[in-house]
Amino acid sequence: MSLSKRKNATQPKSKKPITKVASSQGTAPASIRSNAHLLNEYPSADWFKKFRKAILKWYESNQRRLPWRDDPIPYKVWLSEIMLQQTQVATVVDYFNRFINKFPTIIELANADEQTVLSMWEGLGYYRRARNLHAAAQKVRDDFGGIFPDDFESVLSLPGVGRYSAGAILSIAGDQKLPILEGNTYRLHARLLALHDDPRSRGSESLLWQFAEDLLPTKKCGAFNQSLMELGSEICKPKKPLCQCCPVIKNCAANQLDMADKLPIKSKRRKFVRRHDALFFIENRGQVWVRQRKQGEWWAGLWDFARFNVSEVAETAEKSPPNERLQNHLEAELGIQLKSHPKILMTINHAVTHHKIRLDCYWIKAKFPDAGKQGFKQVTRNELSELPLNVTARKLLSMIEKSC
Ligand code: SF4
Repeated sequence: MSLSKRKNATQPKSKKPITKVASSQGTAPASIRSNAHLLNEYPSADWFKKFRKAILKWYESNQRRLPWRDDPIPYKVWLSEIMLQQTQVATVVDYFNRFINKFPTIIELANADEQTVLSMWEGLGYYRRARNLHAAAQKVRDDFGGIFPDDFESVLSLPGVGRYSAGAILSIAGDQKLPILEGNTYRLHARLLALHDDPRSRGSESLLWQFAEDLLPTKKCGAFNQSLMELGSEICKPKKPLCQCCPVIKNCAANQLDMADKLPIKSKRRKFVRRHDALFFIENRGQVWVRQRKQGEWWAGLWDFARFNVSEVAETAEKSPPNERLQNHLEAELGIQLKSHPKILMTINHAVTHHKIRLDCYWIKAKFPDAGKQGFKQVTRNELSELPLNVTARKLLSMIEKSC
């Protein structure tokens, strides 16, 4: 759609003339092209050709050395793709190496118990990924004879694998011609096309998937898909994209329109809900009170200390924690008998999904009942160090080990 036809679109300030549109365009159907809020025309066949050549050349000499790139078998590519969801490459590298050391093959991962898998994942967050990974390994063992499948539908049937991951695994490990679209490429493509709409809206998503498909070369699809993600991550950064170092600057509509730092249009964000929680390290003569979190709860499968939503327990706790009602609640809910007043050690501010949480962390001494309520049980500090804990419980434990 040309600028002259656009209604209600921000008129961009152009430093340079907009690329002249060639007559033969990519394969995106006219209905998708005309519905999407493009500030420039959909690219031509010549544009695609030049783009592929430039980005592959750049990738050849600029790709980062990453452990899963040295030996891109499906198991390693799959593991890296799952770990990289919502997580930075720098964080993933160590986890990946430890994981592969512990479970060198998919069968060893399938045969491991869930607690061991969660322990290896501890600190990486989004623990559903680890549980899905384990379930998917078991499916590969049981339904595919232990061999990672090489067709799109079968890969898509694995727990935790969506269209993006299936495309990434099969293109990187098997050079199959499959498109990808993830965080970095949503942003990159929105800028290349000067998409003046939320890239995650339904209409934009169809266009971007079509664009990702049109982009693919006939061979070297794995390298090509990785080059897109690498460019998005290293050059076409969310804030202040490094346009002057960009190998595809001549192909970029956002740059031509001087809108690189204004695109993509931000998604309407879900509002954060604030809450105030309390976490209690409850100890009695070297024994600590812990429970495993249940299915459907945050951090299911991991271990935790006693944790409460303070506002739900005592309306006045916000002003003077810990108050009597909170202590009574602890005794009534857990069946313990407090031997000391809760001692606050630290406050952690963290976020879970759309919740912003202030977490007050306490250390108390208490007498435990013989049978724990709500799944609580006693473990020694040594046993505790072997259990997979959620991040905030691990922080409290580290603090206590240093100070108490
Ligand atoms: Fe991104 Fe700038 Fe390159 Fe365009 S020119 S793709 S905005 S880095």
